[in-house]
Amino acid sequence: MLNKKVADLLNDQINKEFYSAYLYLDMNNYFEARGLNGFANWYKIQAMEERDHAMLFYQYLQNNDCKVTLGAIAQPDKKFKCDMDVLKAGLEHEEYVTSLINNIYAEAYKAKDFRTMQFLDWFIKEQGEEETNARDMITKMELFGSDPKSLYMLNQELAGRVYSAPSLVLD
Ligand code: MG
Repeated sequence: MLNKKVADLLNDQINKEFYSAYLYLDMNNYFEARGLNGFANWYKIQAMEERDHAMLFYQYLQNNDCKVTLGAIAQPDKKFKCDMDVLKAGLEHEEYVTSLINNIYAEAYKAKDFRTMQFLDWFIKEQGEEETNARDMITKMELFGSDPKSLYMLNQELAGRVYSAPSLVLD
């Protein structure tokens, strides 16, 4: 059995990841309404990835004989006044998720739970990539967002993002 505190944090993370999916769906919704379907596509795929993350935590707990407790998923309540607001909220959220993952890792380390540490290694790397992607989006928007033609091109680029299942697979 897993350490109780570690197991509770892993269980909480299921909810946080599903909330992340909700938040990114809300961003998808914002960009759909803006008519920027490439941006909308990018955030929809982001939402699918977050759902996958939730399922990985879910499966990991079940694989370790821990019963999962599912809680209510909060309503995304961020108000976006402009495109850049969305991008910045995305980065801020990923930095928050990184802190959550780091916190679980720290507890697993304390409990000498090497199995969970190894499981979380994938998420540590993933969070590095998520933060880089969010920062890249902001940089591109700063460079091109104010010019309609460039925004159109950027939107076309983001339309090309395709979903792929996570490289971490739990049996
Ligand atoms: Mg995630």
